[in-house]
Amino acid sequence: MSIVPLPLEVVNLIAAGEVIDSYSAVVRELVENSLDAGATRLVIALFPDLWRVQLCDNGTGMGLTDLHHCARPHSTSKIHTLDDLWQITSLGFRGEALHSIAQVAQLEIASLSTTEETGWQIRYTAQGEAETMTPIALAPGTRITVSDLFAKMPVRRMGLPSLSQQLKSVQTLIYHVALCHPHITWQIWQNDRPWFNISGSTTAQFILPQFLKQVKTTDLQYISQTIPPAPHQNLPTSARLELVLGLPDRVSRHRPDWIKVAVNGRVVRSPQLEQTLTTGLARTLPRDRFPVCFLHLHLCPSHIDWNRHPAKAEIYLHSLDFWREQVANAIEQALRLNAVTLPVAVQNQRVTQLLKASEEKGRYQVKGIENSPKSLQKEAIGLMSLKAVAQVRKMYIVTEHDTGLWLIEQHIAHERVIYERLQDNWQLVDLEPPIILNDLKPFQVEQLERLQLNIELFGEKIWAVRQAPEPLAQRDDCKDALLELSLGGDIQTAQVATACRSAIRNGTPLNLDEMQVLIDQWQNTRNPHTCPHGRPIYLSLEESSLSRFFRRHWVIGKSHGI
Ligand code: ADP
Ligand code: MG
Repeated sequence: MSIVPLPLEVVNLIAAGEVIDSYSAVVRELVENSLDAGATRLVIALFPDLWRVQLCDNGTGMGLTDLHHCARPHSTSKIHTLDDLWQITSLGFRGEALHSIAQVAQLEIASLSTTEETGWQIRYTAQGEAETMTPIALAPGTRITVSDLFAKMPVRRMGLPSLSQQLKSVQTLIYHVALCHPHITWQIWQNDRPWFNISGSTTAQFILPQFLKQVKTTDLQYISQTIPPAPHQNLPTSARLELVLGLPDRVSRHRPDWIKVAVNGRVVRSPQLEQTLTTGLARTLPRDRFPVCFLHLHLCPSHIDWNRHPAKAEIYLHSLDFWREQVANAIEQALRLNAVTLPVAVQNQRVTQLLKASEEKGRYQVKGIENSPKSLQKEAIGLMSLKAVAQVRKMYIVTEHDTGLWLIEQHIAHERVIYERLQDNWQLVDLEPPIILNDLKPFQVEQLERLQLNIELFGEKIWAVRQAPEPLAQRDDCKDALLELSLGGDIQTAQVATACRSAIRNGTPLNLDEMQVLIDQWQNTRNPHTCPHGRPIYLSLEESSLSRFFRRHWVIGKSHGI
């Protein structure tokens, strides 16, 4: 499509507002244009001190006529009519950005269209008209240079955050775009020095570890689901949901800074969907830790209204409740232990460290296990059929499966089983006789009432509790448990405390049948990775790591003097 001005009726419907309000907004608009032009490689040179930025892409480029039109107001090649507004598949559509940039900065564009032979370089006036025009030799694609940003608006410059903060937002922006468009390769320069690179790949699972250094690809679970059409949910065509989730026993953050939601190629603020992610992962991490997750919804364009926010950072999404449900299901699936969803390699850093620690110091190195994609592929785990084979120290259950062995801590695995059972079915049962508690503080009485346990004053500073959570009722330590519950927390906390108290203690001997029952129940939980306090439940030792550890690849022969 060539670039033409939008009809007035369309202009009037588009969220107006100043698009270019910061240094990073320039980068955002240029990057989005490159992506719309089908680029796969972007080189961005930032000169924040000079209020200058240059971006080169290998997209389709622009011919001379388009170069003349592109910086005029409301001129776009992406939509042309009112109806197109509901079929937007590009990131841009308002035809405003280049014009706005020309108004607040010096704009120069060099471009060679893939369908033409000559490249042109044009410098624009503040009105977006060509000022100078020179033929230029360059590879197909576009190079846009924006300099002297806000030079004529000193007050604007002063009102902006510090340059380092602006750079930070450029970096965050690039991370977001890279996650949404994983096939793009990026080279970012700052003041003529390389700053960071991102290599293009197939999915966001391979992008995230490139900037979250402590996260490995194998610590992430990736799920891509097609959601079939659901006409009653106003979903006429199928949609796709992608989820990259940090496995809770391997990654977490001390801030909720990596809970991201994207819709059709752009990270957006969606408090409701972010809440769904957080809730879906509640009680899988230690207290004060937050998950790493990236949700990307690919929806029919008619389901989104981008005209809520000038920077398109907020949207109107149809059938939000439906999507919340889909996301919750996807998280549940991502957390399950099964062959389809388990990451290709279950080897992780902790196991490498364990193997290292168990090696005699200075002799051999276990190196590069997690960095070698080929060997990782071999560690693909078959259909999980964990068989209990032994109990060690009356604490760990040793299980074996086709490609290795797992060590499972009996108490916390059972705690997870009971916790989920209580989540699904929290029952209070009558205590006969009631349990007598003395010297309760008023807040303890209130707390027990809040948990809806039937409690009444029985005498001077004596209370009778007539109900208890079902797993506690028959226990000898039911009184202690009630006292614990009286100390505070919501229903969830009470469920965790109840699960912890009623789970099999470490130190309890188990026979093979009992162990197998526990393992089967645990495998079927919604989140088998961590206990409700966030502790990891199992340690996997895959055959491939063991074989490396025992040097099974050595050829025993003359070369070893045998
Ligand atoms: P919009 O992206 O909303 O269409 P812009 O002002 O950002 O509006 O860009 C105007 C037009 O210029 C685009 O519609 C596109 O045709 C063209 N354009 C801008 N940047 C590039 C680029 N990097 N490669 C090819 N064409 C581009
Ligand atoms: Mg644009």
